[in-house]
Amino acid sequence: MTTYDYDYLAIGGGSGGIASINRAAMHGKKCALVEMNALGGTCVNVGCVPKKVMWFAAHVAEAVKFSEDYGFELTQQGLNWSKLVANRDAYIQRIHQSYDNVLGKNNVTVIKGHAKFVDQHSVEVNGKVITAEHILIATGGSPIIPDLPGADLGTDSDGFFAMVEQPKRVAVVGAGYIAVEIAGMLHELGSETHLVIRKDKALRQFDPILSDTLTEIMHETGLNLHTNSVPTGIEQTDDGLMLQLEGGNTIGPVDDVIWAIGRKPMTDNLDLEKSGVQLDSKGFIETDQFQNTNVPNIYAVGDNTGRIALTPVAVAAGRRLSERLFNNKPMEHLDYDNVPTVVFSHPTIGTVGLTEQEAREQHGDKVKVYTSSFTAMYTAVTRHRQPTKMKLVCVGDEEKVVGIHVIGLGADEMLQGFAVALKMGATKADLDNTVAIHPSSAEEFVTMR
Ligand code: FAD
Ligand code: NDP
Repeated sequence: MTTYDYDYLAIGGGSGGIASINRAAMHGKKCALVEMNALGGTCVNVGCVPKKVMWFAAHVAEAVKFSEDYGFELTQQGLNWSKLVANRDAYIQRIHQSYDNVLGKNNVTVIKGHAKFVDQHSVEVNGKVITAEHILIATGGSPIIPDLPGADLGTDSDGFFAMVEQPKRVAVVGAGYIAVEIAGMLHELGSETHLVIRKDKALRQFDPILSDTLTEIMHETGLNLHTNSVPTGIEQTDDGLMLQLEGGNTIGPVDDVIWAIGRKPMTDNLDLEKSGVQLDSKGFIETDQFQNTNVPNIYAVGDNTGRIALTPVAVAAGRRLSERLFNNKPMEHLDYDNVPTVVFSHPTIGTVGLTEQEAREQHGDKVKVYTSSFTAMYTAVTRHRQPTKMKLVCVGDEEKVVGIHVIGLGADEMLQGFAVALKMGATKADLDNTVAIHPSSAEEFVTMR
């Protein structure tokens, strides 16, 4: 019988790799984790965690804006960016420590270095070959920089988190989560912010009640929104960077251009051909519903699989994989349907299930939609009113809820519980049978007519 150095080895110490390796180790397996950068991966170091800290800072700035109408006389001293970044980074250091502790407690060997395949059971790290019976590839992704003249004069979301000073003037290019979140934060924190969108609006894949309302609010709050603006390059001038657009228009001068136009899988740094693992045409690792690759002992989870790119998805897929492999649960796998998600825009967006359009494509005239629109109570007494909008998408005579969409203050904390209801197959009547919590925004979901 062949013997290996480890029962299970994970390449990538981000959300998926750490979750999966810890779970395997808890089932008594001999485990190793290889990470070439800081533990925690994208989410902890250049994603969810620093993003949410910056979002909280923007939330504080928003509260200061509203404070006058609540009777406070505050003098704004300006934002100490360095202090904010130092506190954020100290928090991230504490998370690194906590990962170290848990991995240590579970007896996982952590190897710092860059892993490359030697064959289907072996990888090389720092010149040493390590063998494992099972190997997980959880290498995540990285930001895309477009192939345009001067594009490298700009930065990306990693560069945003590395900024040592607040940009006074900034252009954010893109129309997805990252563009909307970074532009929203910088705008609330006081930077002159341009959001540059190549089509007619941001978040086009989301239900229109969300994308249209966010567009309206961005306009109203003075964020410079440039729609139908396709970048062709960046030029350095004496006054700063000029973003050039198709048709000859320019945006700028600005201090920074941040590209937020999507991410690519980190699968080209692994000598994957030596393992035999197949990629699709976009470089993602092909996996089945059990996270199996085409090579029997090699698996992949997270952003490098081209599935929903969210931390809890990578974590859940990684843990379920270890339950299947090492805890005698042969059918354990992640159900990728009805995954709830929040965009940390200003205000936040929460969404789970089908958009109205998707529901109509699937269920035709069996779809019934309920909507609600009101001013968030927090802003009802202030000059800066902010709308909240909600939509329930229901199907069939029993009005099964198949989509829940909300934009407004508190949407981020509102959605999780409603996502449980949707996942359990709740009907509109089930929501109506639940007594409201008053006064809150969430109560509208159980009182819609
Ligand atoms: P990662 O977390 O990226 O981990 C991969 C790890 O593998 C990295 O640490 C990398 O260094 C390592 N690695 C790669 N190649 C090798 C190699 N050859 N050898 C050794 N190590 C290697 N998701 C949410 O759910 N909520 C959010 O609010 C949210 N905000 C985000 C904000 C931003 C700006 C970004 C960029 C992402 C955000 N995400 C958010 C997405 C989330 O961060 C990712 O979905 C998640 O981190 C994916 O986990 P993963 O394990 O697949 O990869
Ligand atoms: P996304 O894929 O979400 O959005 C990128 C968008 O940019 C595209 O949809 C496209 O929109 C636009 N775009 C693409 N190419 C170009 C181009 N050449 N020029 C101008 N615009 C372009 O990528 P992100 O980088 O925003 O985020 C990656 C993923 O990370 C997200 O999908 C999400 O899964 C995850 N994430 C999650 C967060 C959360 O949970 N809150 C926060 C941040 C990231 P269009 O076609 O409309 O122009």
